[in-house]
Amino acid sequence: MKLRKTAAVAVAVLALTATACGGKEGSAGDKPATKPGDAAAPQLPTYTVASGVDLDSPTFKKAKERGKLIIGSKADQPYLGFEDQATKKRSGFDVEIAKMIAAELGFSEDKIEWKTVDSKLRETAISTGQVDYYVGTYTINDKRKEQVGFAGPYYLAGADLLVRKDETGITGPESVKGKKVCSITGSTPLQEIKKPEYGAQTIELGKYSDCVQQLLTKQVDAVTTDDAILKGYAAANSGKLKVTGKPFTKEPYGIGMNKDDKALRGKVSDILDKFEKDGTYKKIYEATLGLSGSAYTEPPALERY
Ligand code: GLU
Repeated sequence: MKLRKTAAVAVAVLALTATACGGKEGSAGDKPATKPGDAAAPQLPTYTVASGVDLDSPTFKKAKERGKLIIGSKADQPYLGFEDQATKKRSGFDVEIAKMIAAELGFSEDKIEWKTVDSKLRETAISTGQVDYYVGTYTINDKRKEQVGFAGPYYLAGADLLVRKDETGITGPESVKGKKVCSITGSTPLQEIKKPEYGAQTIELGKYSDCVQQLLTKQVDAVTTDDAILKGYAAANSGKLKVTGKPFTKEPYGIGMNKDDKALRGKVSDILDKFEKDGTYKKIYEATLGLSGSAYTEPPALERY
């Protein structure tokens, strides 16, 4: 019974974000933005599927043998990693980055199997081979590097706060003392906001969309995670929520994969490098994240190891 209720709430939130995405604040990357005064929305690039790819990577070889690539992603982050519950179509910045990499590895879109993996299960899903690689607002850090490998970074985000539009008391991380702040298990912003110096009362849930729902229904005062994610929720719930705009951590995003698969890690870094240089990355950005109000910035320098 309890489970059913949780599922119903999750679906309701997703339906809400999906509907809102088609509304006047833009789309989750799929449909053109329809903001009043907007010229034609930026178009997504298309990716040429490479042929005859050969790579001395155990992950790649396994994928080639099974004839499809299994990619881990988020499903409830508009403009980043979003799954439309009606059509099952995925959209967003991370989804496009994942498809761009797949094409260079020789896998067309119909040869991709998407697996939704929320933050707390990422390391397990990657290290046990449930996914070939993972693209989902995944911060590179040393602790995670003990369990998974990272190619990137391909984007630099920062933890911020999402509040209701009429909120005046919370203006940044210095004003969350005694406030109910929601974040999700297994995420770096949750670890940060739990530090005693903030004095927040933290609420820990499994999905960001559940935190957003609690913010809308006034069960919590704020949601914390990366600014890029929060701007997506603000845009998808137009008029109801806002981001305080004072990032207080650095969250460099990486593509997560098997820790020991150095060949795949090197190849994915090469792919990121190629498409950052030829403008494809920027096009993706402008047709996805750019629509939620995150102005384009050059990607951070790749860190190979
Ligand atoms: N980038 C942060 C992390 O990897 C927060 C976003 C997320 O949970 O995916 O923990």
